[in-house]
Amino acid sequence: MRNNTCIICNREFEPREGKLYCSNSCKQKAFTDKKGQLGIAMVREQEKEATQKKMNLNFLEYEQYLKKYPNGLDTFQMYCFFRKNLAGTPTIEQINSYIKSFTGDWWEEFWQNGSPARKRYKEFEEKFWGDESVVSFSKNEEITK
Ligand SMILES: [Zn+2]
Repeated sequence: MRNNTCIICNREFEPREGKLYCSNSCKQKAFTDKKGQLGIAMVREQEKEATQKKMNLNFLEYEQYLKKYPNGLDTFQMYCFFRKNLAGTPTIEQINSYIKSFTGDWWEEFWQNGSPARKRYKEFEEKFWGDESVVSFSKNEEITK
């Protein structure tokens, strides 16, 4: 969910994932003010619902992918790691051919601890499971199938 109104003073700002306040002074207020605490709790709850909804929808897509490609990626998390790079509504075949485009060299790097590919995956993993983030499959577009 993208919030575009300060939860303390209601001023609008440029929406950004996870942003709740217009300014540092409102951010500070939020931690000392009862209304602020309630606002945070409310927004977090909405984000959580949005995450669960999206994860459900996309899990159905993952099931379709596995049905068609039983030897494909064997975890939903790994699937989403690749899938998030594809904007719009690609077909299952397009998704599979994108995943297949990662060669043996890429996977070799991936399995090395501390490699750039592994680091990106770890960052994604935190977002994927974190309470405060929403998994979306492209930067500018959310899937609403
Ligand atoms: Zn404010």
